[in-house]
Amino acid sequence: MQISVFRRPALLLASFLALTACGTSYQLPVIDNAVASEASAMFDTAQAAETRSPASLQSGVNRFRRVARRIEPVARTLCERELQNNSDVDCNVTLHIDTEMPVRNAYFSYGAPGYRNPEVHFTIPMLRDAANDDEIAFILGHEYGHLLGQHIQKGDQQALAGAILLGAIAAYGNAQAASAGQYYDPNDVTRAVHLGGALGQRAFSQTYELESDMLGARIAAAAGYDPVRGAQYFARGESARSANGKLSFWGTHPPDEKRLAVVIATMEQIRQQQNQQ
Ligand SMILES: [Zn+2]
Repeated sequence: MQISVFRRPALLLASFLALTACGTSYQLPVIDNAVASEASAMFDTAQAAETRSPASLQSGVNRFRRVARRIEPVARTLCERELQNNSDVDCNVTLHIDTEMPVRNAYFSYGAPGYRNPEVHFTIPMLRDAANDDEIAFILGHEYGHLLGQHIQKGDQQALAGAILLGAIAAYGNAQAASAGQYYDPNDVTRAVHLGGALGQRAFSQTYELESDMLGARIAAAAGYDPVRGAQYFARGESARSANGKLSFWGTHPPDEKRLAVVIATMEQIRQQQNQQ
């Protein structure tokens, strides 16, 4: 039993480590028409489902602990194995229940500078809103995916690169203006630097979310959960969401049937790999 838990994640991810042009560490699965229409139908069905009343706080917290006990060792082993060549990576994730944020949310962050002390946070409304263990397992796996994909580091690098590029363009433009005897406004450079940073972040966020969905699906599956069932959380009807879209899970994780398609396609890949063994 021990052996299978520790070996399966490596097998599931073995052939996926490849540097890709869009900055992800792993190749995303191809979504063919059959998968796309399956995702679309599933998304519509899940969206049309009746709104349930939230679970009690105690049962939500119990569910989180129950699922985390199974996800955590799988995800940590995977992190240590996949990122073993990167001595900067800290795979000891602390799981937190965020009791302050009043909206449904789950997020990944670092608790210390230098990308140390990785943390995953689930808010109370998120725990109470989950319909089943598969949803919590998938979302928890997804948050670990941001660690495995090194998304915060890459986002910072991208933002910096974008800022440097636009800063250089603005500086060049200002130098041209100055040499032509025109008015030189130093604030232009500052503004361009901020704009460049924002653009760099935004251009990568969707790709990183999909990569996290793929990794989350693999982690949840390796821990014995059903990621396709879990990912239907994305299709939850509008009325079940918080009015405060900015702070909620949907503020940073837009509902999108493509995400469900990535999870379905990932599961098909896993089945194919298992058949080949
Ligand atoms: Zn995410």
